Amino acid sequence: MQTIAVEPPKPGVRLVEMPEPTPGPKEFLLKTLEVGIDGTDLEISRGEYGTPPSGEKYLTLGHEAVALVLEAPSRGNFEPGDLVNPTVRRGCGICMPCKTGQSDFCFTGLFKERGIKGLHGFLSPVFVETGEYLVRVPPDLAEVAVLTEPMSVAVKAVHQVLKIQERMPWREETELEEKSALVAGSGSLGLLATFLLRYLGAQVITMDRSPDDTMRADVIRRIGAHHLNSREVDPLVLAKDFDGFDIILEATGSPHVPFRLASALATNGIMVLLGVPGKAVSVEVDATGIMKDMVLENQVIFGCVNSNADHFREAHGCLRGFLDRYPEEFSAVISHRHPWEEYELAFREDGRDVIKHSLLWEER
Ligand SMILES: [Zn+2]
Repeated sequence: MQTIAVEPPKPGVRLVEMPEPTPGPKEFLLKTLEVGIDGTDLEISRGEYGTPPSGEKYLTLGHEAVALVLEAPSRGNFEPGDLVNPTVRRGCGICMPCKTGQSDFCFTGLFKERGIKGLHGFLSPVFVETGEYLVRVPPDLAEVAVLTEPMSVAVKAVHQVLKIQERMPWREETELEEKSALVAGSGSLGLLATFLLRYLGAQVITMDRSPDDTMRADVIRRIGAHHLNSREVDPLVLAKDFDGFDIILEATGSPHVPFRLASALATNGIMVLLGVPGKAVSVEVDATGIMKDMVLENQVIFGCVNSNADHFREAHGCLRGFLDRYPEEFSAVISHRHPWEEYELAFREDGRDVIKHSLLWEER
């Protein structure tokens, strides 16, 4: 079969002939229906990271998939014809979080990730997987289920924010109403987090370095959030109008962003870092100001990565809620669906009308 793969650390994506997988006794054979392409795929395609399976030269890309069960083991929890989302991380098998289905909190770092680190991804016509790493997709979500994986990462982040903020009497108010949130970055993760924070009632400003007439900015505005072009408006100036932001979600991956935005946090505010920086750069930071504010104003800055099967299930609830409340806007998030043979189109740089690309193995 032909898979869409990279040869790390060489840049470039190509078709590679690989043997078709045969399911083991506890494995399902899955037909790939649709795979989303995100910033991580682009970074791997540029040779910035990505690790092939041990002893192999190529890594099949793709970690945001929706698939159809073709063959099931005799005692499986899914049947042929079921729609599923595969999760990404495969635990180390050693630490307690990995042994209890929370490999997103792996202690050892010995985990693998499909399409990223040590395991092939889903940009292939078929793949195999065991049931513990598959989450059933309700049929009414088939059209948008390719967004489950990035949504699950946003779900985990917001869930952790709310969990940490249980330290305060926040929860007595209706969800996030009356709270202000700044989302830095409008890639898949930033945009889906914008949907979620709006859905929960927060006032949301989503910033990127693009003008106001992009498709992304349009969707952001149409769901009642504000788009901010940080090349033109300084978010720190804006923060003064809000008395600081109760929540800041960093999804740019630029080390220049979070420590500057720290001074935009409100009293008792919380900032979650989701973007992973690339090559090392040195950044000047107002360490005294940040430290003073964090102590005197009970602020929290924390990092958050990956997601587990529970977050995938929660993500399905979000997808349904968004389709219900923002049907047109949410359906626009996958702005470009290409047949898999045209995979190169999904790896081109973003244009003004692009929100997110996906590749299809079955015609729509
Ligand atoms: Zn582990």
